[in-house]
Amino acid sequence: MALITTLQCSCGREWLIYVPKKLLYKEIFRGGGVELGKLMDEQKERRGEIALAQEGAELRGVKFRDISISEIIQCDDCGRVFDMLRIIDLDIKYPGVLDYQEVKVAQYEA
Ligand SMILES: [Zn+2]
Repeated sequence: MALITTLQCSCGREWLIYVPKKLLYKEIFRGGGVELGKLMDEQKERRGEIALAQEGAELRGVKFRDISISEIIQCDDCGRVFDMLRIIDLDIKYPGVLDYQEVKVAQYEA
């Protein structure tokens, strides 16, 4: 299951953020687990979970970002900059900072 979270800027703009396991594991295990995370990410990609998440973002009218491409997100409206790796790091120390949702292919098949 792909991990998706939302990010909302103080100005109201919203993003749907895909957090690849390779990044998450790198943060959690301080560099270890990246290979395992990579394999899991590839599996999700093949199952179409990332494409589904992207479609979900379009339906909600929010932008989709894959933070393995760039972990820095800058708001187009107000210029505020978010460093997603710092936010993930905070979430590891103080769980609940990020509101993760899982993309399950099955739930869209019904
Ligand atoms: Zn903003």
